[in-house]
Amino acid sequence: MVAGLKGIRLAVVGGDDREIYLIPELQKLGAYIVGVGLEKAPPIPGLTLVGTLLEAVSQVDVLLFPMFGTDERGLVKAKYGNSPVVLNKEVLQAIPSKVPLCIGWARQALKSAADMLGIRIVETANLPELAILNSIPSAEGAIQMAMEATPITLHGSQSFVIGLGRTGWTLARMLMGIGAHVTGVARKSADLARAAEMGFQPVHLSDLEDQIGRAEIVFNTAPAPVLDRVMLEMMARDAVIIDLASLPGGTDFEYAQMLGIKALLAPGLPGIVAPKTAGKILAQVYPQLILRQLSTVNALV
Ligand code: NAP
Repeated sequence: MVAGLKGIRLAVVGGDDREIYLIPELQKLGAYIVGVGLEKAPPIPGLTLVGTLLEAVSQVDVLLFPMFGTDERGLVKAKYGNSPVVLNKEVLQAIPSKVPLCIGWARQALKSAADMLGIRIVETANLPELAILNSIPSAEGAIQMAMEATPITLHGSQSFVIGLGRTGWTLARMLMGIGAHVTGVARKSADLARAAEMGFQPVHLSDLEDQIGRAEIVFNTAPAPVLDRVMLEMMARDAVIIDLASLPGGTDFEYAQMLGIKALLAPGLPGIVAPKTAGKILAQVYPQLILRQLSTVNALV
């Protein structure tokens, strides 16, 4: 069930094409939306643009920042912004304590500053419902990259998926649908048992070194340095790595390049390959999240 947002004021801050699809969906539910860093976006009826983040924070009930979070200086990615949008100390100090700040990933510095100022930070990228739905465009994007980066079909290929979590399962299942021979690499016995049940060849992470030599395409979703020098040495030089794990990825990219192994880091795939779907996924998850946050804040007042 989609929640109604009548009378709720939201600020959508920066972002990319996902936000262009997200905003009208939230408006349809009754939300009043203030946009920051969206001056160059295609016109969205009913959207109120404000010039600065500082102006926005005092006008709304909830702040929605992009999935990317900010860089280390607080710069918010704003594909359609006229000027830089920065979440700095001055802005943080102006955010009322009852206004939750939703953001994909929050850097430690932002979390610490928010903690000191009593601001409620809600990290959204790791919410199970969002991560599972986002795994669909992520997996499709990874497959698209693999198709472009290899001279072989995925059908019949030896494709390894390292990390069987929300993204890994979806990717492994899609690869099998295409006809790849899928090896699922995990460290939990339950995941390995499930991999076998689903028709993937299960390989424990500790045995990967002995197995990786037969891989033609390796998809990494484990946010850890799993494809290190030792592992890369064992790989075929014409194998391709598509690394989906959050920055800096799980591959020693420099060493891979030295060995002549093509290794590609693939951050932010949903927003790149399927912004409309990814925006609609946000629109599916955010209403409940917003209402939950507001009821928590109101209960605390
Ligand atoms: P997830 O559900 O937590 O799955 C992560 C998987 O990696 C699990 O199987 C986990 O195994 C394994 N893992 C974690 N730490 C490990 C370690 N130190 N050594 C070996 N394996 C380890 O996460 P997810 O939602 O699938 O996301 C996976 C990664 O992809 C994250 O970094 C996420 O930010 C990124 N991501 C990227 C995109 C993109 O567009 N590139 C899209 C979505 C997600 P255990 O269960 O044993 O811990």
